[in-house]
Amino acid sequence: MHPSRTAPQLPVVVVVGAGYAGRCCVARLRALRTHATVVLVEAAPAVYERIRMHERVAGRALKPVVLNPLLPGPRGARATSRVDNRRVTGADLHRQTLAFEQGPELRFDHLVVATGGHMETGVGGVPGALEHALSIERDDLPHDALEVAVVGGGLTAIETAAELAETGRRVTLVCRQLGGGLSPKARAHVERAFARLEVRVLSGRSVCRVRADAVELDDGSTVMTDACVWTAGQATAALPRLLGLEVDEAGRAHVDATLRTLSHPSVWVAGDAARVAGPGGAPLRAACATAMPMGCHVADNIHRQLARKPARPFRFRYLFQCISLGRRDAVIQFVDGQDRPTARVWRGRFAAWFKERICRMTISVPRWEARLRLRLYRWPEPRETHVGRAHAGSVRALVHKEPR
Ligand SMILES: Cc1cc2nc3c(=O)[nH]c(=O)nc-3n(C[C@H](O)[C@H](O)[C@H](O)COP(=O)(O)OP(=O)(O)OC[C@H]3O[C@@H](n4cnc5c(N)ncnc54)[C@H](O)[C@@H]3O)c2cc1C
Repeated sequence: MHPSRTAPQLPVVVVVGAGYAGRCCVARLRALRTHATVVLVEAAPAVYERIRMHERVAGRALKPVVLNPLLPGPRGARATSRVDNRRVTGADLHRQTLAFEQGPELRFDHLVVATGGHMETGVGGVPGALEHALSIERDDLPHDALEVAVVGGGLTAIETAAELAETGRRVTLVCRQLGGGLSPKARAHVERAFARLEVRVLSGRSVCRVRADAVELDDGSTVMTDACVWTAGQATAALPRLLGLEVDEAGRAHVDATLRTLSHPSVWVAGDAARVAGPGGAPLRAACATAMPMGCHVADNIHRQLARKPARPFRFRYLFQCISLGRRDAVIQFVDGQDRPTARVWRGRFAAWFKERICRMTISVPRWEARLRLRLYRWPEPRETHVGRAHAGSVRALVHKEPR
């Protein structure tokens, strides 16, 4: 008997990563009463809500997410589901074992890779960024940093700039384009909010050097700062590549329509670590809005496989994007079936209340699924689908097609 396999008569499902996808996956396995031992492997000693990292960098204390109640409880006396606080460093996928920084390896019958991605300050190779720029996920902003440059024009940059400005800091946002994926109405609201919060926007510029006391721009100008917060660029976690899975240029593992890896039938990928063809064949964007359904869907499929039923394809469509503008303002941008912004936008206090409900829902929904042992979480599906090819020379996957 393998030493790490505590209940040899039950299949072992190992879920790596306790983010949105991983938490939903283990909670759904509990809701389904899957007859398996489930191990949730997480490298971080405490898991925090990633979608609140811009609140954290602005000084708000976040509470860690409690993981144990999500896991399947004892079924008879045989199942011993647990959290394993270790970092996965490699695997032998043929022997179906995982290796860790320390301690014994872990055998699995099904492996779920849900290791997400991270914002890296060094992405793009801008001189000085690695040394001097702060990461919103990792670093604390010094209390005495009054002049702050935020680099990036995406939704995280917008949320971070607004959050910091609300705490009284003087914020300069440097970007090539502000809120590229927003409708004109939503962008106009962001601009009004920035004017109210006195956020200075330097659009159409790039940072070419980060110094300890300033950022230098490509137009030759220099912005003096006490701190620079980097939100440009998204790098995927290293694990899919480390495991030897087939990955894209961003390190995301290619999966088939059921979210199973192309090379190993017992290895599944969910969340930001997976490359999944979305509307029009483009990859689904990194979002908890996609990570949660994917985590649930992988659990549904593993449950079906253990019951000797075929896995089902993942079907998903976006409804909206939520962007907070401090604690009292926000924009909810609705999107069409191709994930393009529509003219429908919610703004102001109601939007801020709505976004806060969504953030809380990401924590409460898996908890309730696990507690009530019910499949509560549902997600929108495309109205029409047809089967096409997702990856050249590989598997068949669903391509979403919306009626005009
Ligand atoms: C500031 C900010 C705001 C955001 N706001 C929104 C929003 O409003 N709406 C939205 O939909 N999305 C938002 N996102 C994006 C969203 O947070 C991510 O898409 C989401 O976290 C992806 O979930 P995940 O489960 O794939 O990975 P993650 O949440 O990143 O979790 C991965 C977990 O895996 C663990 N891990 C990694 N490697 C290993 C290893 N080798 N061994 C063991 N454990 C490992 C990590 O420690 C981590 O806990 C935001 C992101 C940021 C940074």
